[in-house]
Amino acid sequence: MNNALVAYFTMEIALDSAMPTYAGGLGVLAGDTVRSAAELKVPMVAMTLLHRKGYFRQRIDDSGWQREEPCDWDLEKHLEEQPPRVSVSIEGRTVSLRAWKCEVKVSGGFQVPVFFLDSDLPENSTWDRTLTHFLYGGDAFYRICQEVILGIGGVRMLRALGHTTLARFHMNEGHAALLGLELLDESARNAGRRTFNGEDIESVRRRCVFTTHTPVASGHDQFPLDLVTRVLGRDEVTAMHEIFCHDGSLNMTFLALNLSHYVNGVAKRHAETSRLMFGQHNIDSITNGVHAATWTSPPFQSLFDRHIPGWRTDNFSLRFAHSLPLAEIWETHLAAKQLLAGRVARETGLVLDPNILTLGFARRATAYKRNDLLVSDVERLKRIASNAGPLQIVYGGKAHPNDHQGKETIQRIFRVKEWLGKHITMLYLPDYDLDLAKLMTAGVDVWLNTPQAPLEASGTSGMKAALNGVPSLSVLDGWWIEGWIEGETGWAIGEHCTVERDTANRNACDATSLYDKLEHVILPMFYRDRNRFTDVMRHCISLNGSFFNTQRMVSQYVIKAYFE
Ligand SMILES: *Cc1c(COP(=O)(O)O)cnc(C)c1O
Repeated sequence: MNNALVAYFTMEIALDSAMPTYAGGLGVLAGDTVRSAAELKVPMVAMTLLHRKGYFRQRIDDSGWQREEPCDWDLEKHLEEQPPRVSVSIEGRTVSLRAWKCEVKVSGGFQVPVFFLDSDLPENSTWDRTLTHFLYGGDAFYRICQEVILGIGGVRMLRALGHTTLARFHMNEGHAALLGLELLDESARNAGRRTFNGEDIESVRRRCVFTTHTPVASGHDQFPLDLVTRVLGRDEVTAMHEIFCHDGSLNMTFLALNLSHYVNGVAKRHAETSRLMFGQHNIDSITNGVHAATWTSPPFQSLFDRHIPGWRTDNFSLRFAHSLPLAEIWETHLAAKQLLAGRVARETGLVLDPNILTLGFARRATAYKRNDLLVSDVERLKRIASNAGPLQIVYGGKAHPNDHQGKETIQRIFRVKEWLGKHITMLYLPDYDLDLAKLMTAGVDVWLNTPQAPLEASGTSGMKAALNGVPSLSVLDGWWIEGWIEGETGWAIGEHCTVERDTANRNACDATSLYDKLEHVILPMFYRDRNRFTDVMRHCISLNGSFFNTQRMVSQYVIKAYFE
């Protein structure tokens, strides 16, 4: 389909566990967006990098230390090489690019082609051939080269593939912001000028849409100007620093902000935080979602098929889960729990007990997510298990290879296993990916999230859990502020801790709140009032599954950003 209207640019995308072209939430969101765009017949095309050597495969050694192993993958099994070649200039060299295509199809919908840019061509230098090998690998130099390829190369490739009708360029995070430079050049060329001016900027702004994803400043790519000059060789970056730069560096977030007519954060709270960070910009919010059919476990898929036919094409109808019989929900949940237990048994030899409340936590191991908050007071945890009822804990998640602190957190969690001894079964499943995320978010009883507010932009794994009737126990941040009804869709952590400004006090306050909720609210309900607990599960599906999905999200992009 060459008459696509929306071009979606993303550094990572998660389409299949066998394609390691994603690191985490940003890529999962991209994959789910494309699936829902296909479903909703939004004429979209997506652009990303090939990541021939993927992100990495995580192994955890006997001491609990993360080891990164390469993950080559069989790209020709999933992708189809495209004939055109385009090039970009990097440090004055011409770097040739090709694209590989994956068609994302859903029955009854459109196909959305996803193009993966590849610089590993014989005509390129050995170094340039590696530029599309590693997702989030290398240093600032490697990263800016990748972003030249994604942004500038991406637009050129779309043109070479015959996409001439594109009316919107959607940047999923700032990595692709250099697409703006290419569009400015195009606009000037079309007007018969050699350099772009204010008119071109207006024309580009009308076409660009930017979704910002993190309130953590270090998550925004910025490059020193000498590096930019060396790689890109474009005087405009310094000459028009009010467009390209912030604090004397090329700043991809500011560039994207300056060249977009519509900017959004990924939850209401995140948009508020972003407005504080980027005061002069108008920042709306479209809360993230997940692709419902992808993230609903097979047992719940058949339950929904029986009771709510049409839920796949119309996710809003999941609202009618409010009349599902409680006994069937519980039975279906036990089946999902069994699927996770099966994988655990195969992988670790451990036998999870389906009658014991199982807590799940899996996400990137990094400081603000406080992955180890649950195990910060092991003695308290043991007391809870003996006073209020037994507990099992399933952990997962990777740390970025350069995040030493994140790796230490994994090791700390890993070591707690020994202190817990026989009191609580706990395990850390390695190599968290799409498949493991599906099993975990559906196969535990409570999904835990403990970010340091307001740093979790949205979070999406709790939405996956909700579709499977799994309630969240979470800090009030990101999407959970919107999805939380205390005791109805799950439980808040630390709702009374907002006065604690100091990080250590805040952590202690949140941990106490987490333990109190477990001991006095959740475990008693789970073991002594199963119907009440199952009713909470039902609310998760009807109130949150029906809303926090990418069908609703993409519809909002259509209304507010694409065809407004
Ligand atoms: C959903 C998902 C994430 C993102 O989860 P958050 O709750 O946003 O942290 C990360 N990695 C994988 C593999 C996922 O499936």
